[in-house]
Amino acid sequence: MKKYLTLQEAIEQGSGKVALQGWVYRERGSSKIKFLVLRDHTTILQCVVEKEKIGEKKFSLIDKIQIETSVRLEGTIKKDERAPTGYEVNVEDLEIVGIANEFPIQKDQSVEFLADNRHLWLRSRRMTAILKIRSTVFQAIDTYFRNNKFYLYHSPIFSPNNCEGGSTVFKVDYFGNEMFLTQSWQLYAEAGIFSLGNIYTIAPSFRAERSKTSRHLTEYWHAEMEMVWNTFEDVMHHAEGVLKFILKEVLDKHQEEFKILERDPKKLEPALKKPFIKMTYTDALKILKEKCKMDVEWGKDLRTLEEEKLTKLYDVPLLVTRYPKKIKAFYMKEDPENSEVVLGMDCLAPEGYGEIIGGSQREENAEEIEKRLREQGEDPSVYGWYLDLRKYGSVPHGGFGLGVERVITWICGLDNIKDAIPFPRTMFRFTP
Ligand code: ATP
Ligand code: MG
Repeated sequence: MKKYLTLQEAIEQGSGKVALQGWVYRERGSSKIKFLVLRDHTTILQCVVEKEKIGEKKFSLIDKIQIETSVRLEGTIKKDERAPTGYEVNVEDLEIVGIANEFPIQKDQSVEFLADNRHLWLRSRRMTAILKIRSTVFQAIDTYFRNNKFYLYHSPIFSPNNCEGGSTVFKVDYFGNEMFLTQSWQLYAEAGIFSLGNIYTIAPSFRAERSKTSRHLTEYWHAEMEMVWNTFEDVMHHAEGVLKFILKEVLDKHQEEFKILERDPKKLEPALKKPFIKMTYTDALKILKEKCKMDVEWGKDLRTLEEEKLTKLYDVPLLVTRYPKKIKAFYMKEDPENSEVVLGMDCLAPEGYGEIIGGSQREENAEEIEKRLREQGEDPSVYGWYLDLRKYGSVPHGGFGLGVERVITWICGLDNIKDAIPFPRTMFRFTP
């Protein structure tokens, strides 16, 4: 069996014989010579086929090659300044592995067309670059939590409760019973801390988002953590910690990908090097008023537009804390110093990207949770098992959820979250 090199490995070898496999990325030529630019997951590489060298019969087959044909070839690689990646392969033999019909994706195609052909568009250098960064982001989250001695823990996807509120829940018919697709791992994670201590997960969450924003998916990957015996400060410490670690890993490994994406990695460096900025919700309203001329009534949630304006003022993420109790989830702990607000935080990415993490210290008292549930029009009896957690050795605990695609959108500088996942799901986009 021949040893095939990736195109990047061939470039690193730089001279001598190579055997390669890949797809035709570009092709041009004449009746005597053909330039095939190959691509694989590593890079692109120009290969030259001469009729004289390869013979009339083979050359006539190669002449019919269209973009995305898969090939195997052997040849000699050498430096060539004129070639797109600085090297060129002089082909000695070439085998067509899979012919390609006329590739539907050409230059300057509409966003909708590319979405309809997502299964093919994934091969673009742009998507390859994003998906490589995505892979590193998942790895970094995993490494960060393991390095900090968190255990991996799983919640069910089918859930009898809904965690983040009724309007964005997907109902499923579960053998005649009504169940929901999970919106968050959290409620079951709160049971897990009694067994494992500090825990984390990376799992899909589902939200029936009717809004047509550029940062909401209906199915997204949610990295969540839950800590025990902790303080609210600890939750914020790890929000900053995991984001800094993700940035470090991505900046270390993906300078090439940033070039392909035309994303300036310098824009991410402040978030890695400087501390994040902490401010209360109440302070955020003041800053919005003074610096952005935006008047938000105390008690109203920050909307996308307000988050965007606020975060454009900074080059590092913001940790906005102590939101009004009435706009936050029932499980968030009341601030012991101010009963109007909760020990909750949203981490907002700079440059206008907005919320990427939401977290809080959790309420420890069963009666308080029952009261909050009733205030929000929910039936506490549905939460029986959850309330039990407060009846058998309740402890301080807290955690957060990080939207993995939100983080990728920010890191890659994308206009829309849909490009941060291979096959996006939104209200209007659910194929292919
Ligand atoms: P938003 O106000 O932006 O809808 P949220 O307050 O509903 O967010 P949380 O319930 O706190 O968000 O979820 C935790 C994290 O999950 C968010 O900080 C965000 O990064 C991510 N997230 C939430 N909803 C979505 C979604 N529809 N698509 C992608 N990521 C999401
Ligand atoms: Mg939401």
